[in-house]
Amino acid sequence: MKYIGAHVSAAGGVENAPQRAKEMGATGFALFTKNQRQWKAKPLSEENITTFKKRCKEFGFNMDAVIPHDSYLINLGHPEKAKLQKSLDAFLDELQRCEQLGIKMLNFHPGSHLKKISEKECLRIIAESINWSLDQTEFVKAAIENTAGQGTNMGYRFEHLAEIMDQVEQKERVGVCIDTAHAFAAGYDLSTEKGFQETFDEFGKIVGFENLLAMHLNDSKKELGSKVDRHESLGDGLIGWTPFELIMADPRFDGIPLILETPNPERWPEEIEQLKKLEKRD
Ligand SMILES: [Zn+2]
Ligand SMILES: [Zn+2]
Repeated sequence: MKYIGAHVSAAGGVENAPQRAKEMGATGFALFTKNQRQWKAKPLSEENITTFKKRCKEFGFNMDAVIPHDSYLINLGHPEKAKLQKSLDAFLDELQRCEQLGIKMLNFHPGSHLKKISEKECLRIIAESINWSLDQTEFVKAAIENTAGQGTNMGYRFEHLAEIMDQVEQKERVGVCIDTAHAFAAGYDLSTEKGFQETFDEFGKIVGFENLLAMHLNDSKKELGSKVDRHESLGDGLIGWTPFELIMADPRFDGIPLILETPNPERWPEEIEQLKKLEKRD
């Protein structure tokens, strides 16, 4: 069974997200639990929390199929101490929000070295940041997302994800989220069946499917290896439908949220429908 959904708006409160997801035919969803462009947010109220939980139940969402994305401001690999601490405090707040909402994982981009430290050092800081945050929370898992490698972002190779995970102490609470557009822009050619199989063979060896917590399903406006992160609607970009057909037919992607972050929300119902058809095909 596959959970298919999109990153839905939480405008007006997190408790509005489940309904929006339900209306577009989703069986899972992503959201921001606070404004993603601001450092501070007011705490979730008791009402936000109980209504969110009630609606997830009412609309039949399995909590394994819900994965919030953290704020874009957070850099868990920041080379400067004071700024790193600001990111850590914000990240911890996000993890705590997830736990309050009964959400089991949080997805985030690993971090950026800002040309001030080596990639290796940056990966070490990211792992330490995860350790610090997990120590202060109970159950929520950290889902590290692969990146396109834009700017000084780490996480554009599967090896980066593995190197971070190796240094995380609570192994059962860390895993990854793979974004197809980011992988393609980083140089993994998912546009052909051969490229797809090679990429995920490599993924299996380096990271392991047991650590795959979620996928972001996006086509790409930018070329293979361009290192530029620009999502496109499924089938309209340079990746095409091939990997999405293969994912939907492959049991290695069962039981995890498969989330659209494609640029035209009005097309999400149709994209979800198409993915569901592909799943039933065989
Ligand atoms: Zn993503
Ligand atoms: Zn992206």
